[in-house]
Amino acid sequence: MPDSSSIPGDWRWLDADGLQILIDLLRGRGFRVVGPRIADGAIVIGDIDSAAQLPTGWLDDQDGGSYRLRQDKAAGTFDHVVGPHSLKNFLFPARETLQHWTRDDRGWHDTTPAEPPRPLAVIGVRGCDLAALAIQDRVFLGGDHVDPAYKARRERLFLLAVNCRRAAATCFCHSMGCGPAAGPGFDLALTETDGRFAVETGSEAGAALLAELAARGSPVTPAEILDEAAIEQVRDIPRRLGREMHARRAEPGRPVPRSLDTDGIRDLLFSNLEHPRWQQVADRCLSCANCTLVCPTCFCSSVSDVADLSGDHASRERQWASCFTLEHSQMHGGNARPTVASRYRQWLTHKLAGWIDQFGSSGCTGCGRCITWCPVGIDLTAEVAAIREAPTP
Ligand code: SF4
Ligand code: SF4
Repeated sequence: MPDSSSIPGDWRWLDADGLQILIDLLRGRGFRVVGPRIADGAIVIGDIDSAAQLPTGWLDDQDGGSYRLRQDKAAGTFDHVVGPHSLKNFLFPARETLQHWTRDDRGWHDTTPAEPPRPLAVIGVRGCDLAALAIQDRVFLGGDHVDPAYKARRERLFLLAVNCRRAAATCFCHSMGCGPAAGPGFDLALTETDGRFAVETGSEAGAALLAELAARGSPVTPAEILDEAAIEQVRDIPRRLGREMHARRAEPGRPVPRSLDTDGIRDLLFSNLEHPRWQQVADRCLSCANCTLVCPTCFCSSVSDVADLSGDHASRERQWASCFTLEHSQMHGGNARPTVASRYRQWLTHKLAGWIDQFGSSGCTGCGRCITWCPVGIDLTAEVAAIREAPTP
């Protein structure tokens, strides 16, 4: 049990050494620790065993169809924003085997491995991705049909979130109410300031970890608990960024973040299903599905049964699917969405309108990934704005 001074909501200071001890403690508890690191010219989520692997001093410049890393001596450890990966890659992986079956003289047997998945700790989760996790939880855990593979991984998840103090030009979390501050759902949340981290506890698991850190004589001591004034100052860091994003203020070296007017957006999209804009975007769209693959909330998948050549082994495989592929809407007798315009319309109206009816919230958290990783730079905020500006009479 955590001590009484380490209850959720508690705040403490942590220095760079403390971050390493935190990683060591998580690994010592059997967690696979992953977090932001540079690979293939981007900041992805990969295995972390040392705080030195985190991208301290690196920034990402993002825009429609564009992503570039650059070094900046003044940049902290978490001043980059989201890359192509999200929690989805770990909780709902792109490919997984759901079942194994083996045949012997007595018939077919379920030989699916029974051991639970290894616990996972994720460092650097942002507000938009905590919101995306809450959305995926509703999809995979809500209602009558719980996804057992997702549930097993979700129950063994530790989240070390980060409050953003910088936004990319593609970010519009402020429009969706999902950032830049980390919302509920984290175990611990870091705010970087003055070369150290203010740590907020958000769960009993987070509190227990900080208590263990203190017990080991780490840099976290009772003397380093933040007082009310310090907490307010730290809380104001993401708030200030949110105010700047709302104000859409351009300054040298700080591109204007995007925004999305969500007022009445469900009715706006549903009443413009025949708008000419769908064809105009289709003239540029490659129907490549990148936007759905990088989106942290898209959840479609297809399942196939695969047998080996001996006929004695079979497996059931699940892989991500996308509404941008023709087979996604193939039905007996024909295809319901044979054109790119109809597929883009399906994606956008489901994400921003149908989702509200289906799950009680938007399917978009404003992370901006679909804008950055679209090879032709299609921007959903611009598409909605164009329809809003000249709706179907
Ligand atoms: S639709 Fe785009 S901006 Fe919204 S959550 Fe998905 S990837 Fe992020
Ligand atoms: S909107 Fe962009 S990323 Fe999405 S399918 Fe079209 S071209 Fe690909």
